[in-house]
Amino acid sequence: MNDGNKNTIPTGRFAPTPSGEMHAGNLLCALLAYLSVKSAGGKFLVRIEDLDTDRCPPNSADKLLNTLDTLGLVGDEPPLFQSGREQFYRIKERELRDKARVYPCFCTRAQLHAAEAPRIRDGETIYPGTCRNLTERQIEEKSAMRRPCFRIEVPDIKIGFTDTIAGRFEQNLKEDCGDFILRRSDGVHAYQFAVAADDGESGVTEVVRGNDLLPSTPRQIWLMSLLGYRPPRYYHIPLVCDHTGRKLSKSDGDSAARIVSAYPKERILGSLAYSAGIIDRNRPATLEELVAIFSWDKVRKDQIFLDRI
Ligand code: GLU
Repeated sequence: MNDGNKNTIPTGRFAPTPSGEMHAGNLLCALLAYLSVKSAGGKFLVRIEDLDTDRCPPNSADKLLNTLDTLGLVGDEPPLFQSGREQFYRIKERELRDKARVYPCFCTRAQLHAAEAPRIRDGETIYPGTCRNLTERQIEEKSAMRRPCFRIEVPDIKIGFTDTIAGRFEQNLKEDCGDFILRRSDGVHAYQFAVAADDGESGVTEVVRGNDLLPSTPRQIWLMSLLGYRPPRYYHIPLVCDHTGRKLSKSDGDSAARIVSAYPKERILGSLAYSAGIIDRNRPATLEELVAIFSWDKVRKDQIFLDRI
């Protein structure tokens, strides 16, 4: 096992992508991640997933961190910015290359969509393996035309895990995921890889996040096992809706920054905690009180409707 797993202190994290405003559902996820690990006497980390700088407007990470600070959802260590960890990802990529085959892929998005083989599941394309067996010569020729991305060849194995909320979840890596990208053609490391490497290295023992990421988890577990990290326990929480049942999104008016500037912190915490099922009426609550009474047994497992703040 790597050093990251020497750590037996319960360690949780909130890992937002600062691609725009957080909404109240993101705040609820941050709160649950915090309460879960703090109620177990562990440490809470914040990781800013800003690898894709084109998608992350300047200042949005600061804004997001300010919003979390206002509610007291502060990490026990300074926040980790993925954009500053290129060196670390290079080292981990080298380790992976000793364990699995990583190969250059020259396909454009358009070619992938035009190919017949890929099936789309959960909005993702399953790579048909077009560049898996290129010869050295073909690679040389294609490299002169275009910078490749790098894919990892996945084995024909089933990876399953029991999510504490969503239950048993399994995927066959070959059939359900296909060879996936480790490093994009612009040199930026890809989400699945960066998350697996960072969670492992930080000794994360529990991951609380939205259940839209459930289908990413087997890939991350597999990568962590190749890198010698022990996978965390997962809590994939249901998507959060407003009180009318409408899904919250970053692009509309559900801005977390607006909420924290408009209401006292205890009122926001109490309302989020009530919506999640942690307290039985919508009333102000402190973070300390919520840590003391938190239990996953209380948290709604089906759908979370946000009550009025
Ligand atoms: N950065 C991802 C997001 O904001 C979450 C990643 C994770 O929690 O694993 O959607």
